[in-house]
Amino acid sequence: MPSMSITWPVSVAASRPQSTIRQWPETYSARSLPRYRHALPMTEGGALPYASQNKGAAHKCGHDGHCAALCAMTMAVENGAVKRPVYLIFETGEEIGLGGELCAPLLAEKGIREVYAFHNLSGYPMGAVVYRRGLTQPASEGLSLQLRGTPSHASAPEEGKNPAPEIARLTLSAQGLNRRDGAEMKMCTVTGVKVGSGDFGISPGEGELRVTLRAERESAMKDMEVALVNEARSLAEKAGLQMEYRLWDVFPETRNDDACLDKVISAAGRLGIQAVEMADIWRASEDFGHLLKACPGALFYIGTGEGHAPVHTDGYDFPDEILSVAVNMFVELAKG
Ligand SMILES: [Zn+2]
Ligand SMILES: [Zn+2]
Repeated sequence: MPSMSITWPVSVAASRPQSTIRQWPETYSARSLPRYRHALPMTEGGALPYASQNKGAAHKCGHDGHCAALCAMTMAVENGAVKRPVYLIFETGEEIGLGGELCAPLLAEKGIREVYAFHNLSGYPMGAVVYRRGLTQPASEGLSLQLRGTPSHASAPEEGKNPAPEIARLTLSAQGLNRRDGAEMKMCTVTGVKVGSGDFGISPGEGELRVTLRAERESAMKDMEVALVNEARSLAEKAGLQMEYRLWDVFPETRNDDACLDKVISAAGRLGIQAVEMADIWRASEDFGHLLKACPGALFYIGTGEGHAPVHTDGYDFPDEILSVAVNMFVELAKG
């Protein structure tokens, strides 16, 4: 019997990678559901009775809701709702792109034929299934560029090498990478600029620029990375500075398989759930793209309401009303 995987992001309180995959007996059905459990470095606003008790750490992406939906799916499978093997993947590291990469090899290892996931999405009708054909979320990565010279007394900057002018030029070049080539998006967002400690008595010897690169194609993202690294290298050489760079939180592009997306739309139709096609991609990145490279599948979204606060903002709260939509959709997809 063909197996399939329904995937969700699952997060973890600790920072170390951790993933649990459970296979039901062959007499049961198999598909796979991954999910993230992963706190974000932010506060939890409002007076929620279940607000995070850890100051500066909160689940503002719906990860607790993702886990709850996956647990409910577990009960549905155990109650015999699906008559073939299903893999439920509790995955870590959604926010930094690690979980999908960690789990992707298991799809081939277990012979999984299809993989599905959902994420909650604000700005669409509550409980609606929202989807996009082909590319649904872009690739992204963090890039930090360090320039190192020599500090000196602020009264004698000529005795040191202060990288402030080169960091400034590099920042402007980074901003200049933002563009649309026709319909294709390429973004470079400056997320941090730092030169020295700010002490008035010191001409600093170190500077750093941090950017997030985002593009519809991984190759276009790589082109931006190479352009910035080459420029940093060239500026450093001319000014006699040392240059180092590092990549962080690398996410692939997330591209849906046409036939699998058709199954998502059909499942919504059979359940009487409104299906809404997105005009544009969701600009955030998603590590589920790693699983979609390993196996055909689809990532769809469940609307949380037009006026609902976006994920990763203080006012966000996962609406429990969409849990049943998630579970019913996965059961329907798992039935095939
Ligand atoms: Zn998320
Ligand atoms: Zn998130």
